[in-house]
Amino acid sequence: MHSEKQVALITGASRGIGAATARVLAGAGFRVVLGYHHNGPKAEALAENLRALDTECLTVPVDVSDAVQVDAMLDQTIQRFGRVDLLVNNAGIIKDRTIRKLELDDWYDVLNVNLTGTFLCTRAVLSYMTQQQYGRIVNVSSVIAHTGGFGQTNYAASKAGVIGFTRSVALEVARFGITVNALCPGFIETDMLSMVPQPVRDSIMQRIPLGRFGQPEEIAEAVLFLSRAGWMTGQCLNINGGQDM
Ligand code: NAD
Repeated sequence: MHSEKQVALITGASRGIGAATARVLAGAGFRVVLGYHHNGPKAEALAENLRALDTECLTVPVDVSDAVQVDAMLDQTIQRFGRVDLLVNNAGIIKDRTIRKLELDDWYDVLNVNLTGTFLCTRAVLSYMTQQQYGRIVNVSSVIAHTGGFGQTNYAASKAGVIGFTRSVALEVARFGITVNALCPGFIETDMLSMVPQPVRDSIMQRIPLGRFGQPEEIAEAVLFLSRAGWMTGQCLNINGGQDM
């Protein structure tokens, strides 16, 4: 390990779990790169807050499903900070439809962001992490990867794919001192959950033994844990209020 402050790159960082992760990592002493999609003003406002707390911060626009944009994000990161220690593949979308109504475009859109985006960002950081002989990669999957979700064949397939991807990359890069783990959150109070109709939210709540949805900070703390867990790789950490035991 090196003596400079560590650098964390977080995708989908303008809001929700990504923004909470940026705040928690900044609080733990990381310099942070906020990858954002469309929401520049929100990402910039978050960056200003973090800078006011003495965190070095870079905002970069990126569509994670676009290889050229992903490589450009890494170039900017390296130009600014010279290294990248932690990648949090957080960007994700839902496009829920029951399978008979699911258009091929809705299938590809979700797979492209959630799974291909994770692949592209991981591949891009690995060129630097392997040289550094150090790295941490945290892939945000979902409880839905394990349980399935009504109307979520595309999302469940993408998030289950992220787990298989995580294990395979973990095997490939362990020899470089790089760990790769997945996080499987249950239902967390973010904009994504607010897209779920109220009756469905009510029925989900009935299935959560701890009797509440999670908070983004509770996932962010798990990312911080995984950033420090040097002898843990290829694992999937479940944080779901007991919904899936
Ligand atoms: P959110 O919708 O608030 O955040 C998603 C983020 O991804 C946004 O910042 C959005 O701009 C970004 N994004 C979307 N498309 C992108 C693209 N093409 N390129 C780059 N960024 C893109 O939702 P959230 O709940 O904070 O979700 C964060 C992650 O957590 C997602 O991967 C999601 O699947 C996962 N997750 C969420 C829940 C939940 O209940 N909220 C549960 C399990 C897993």
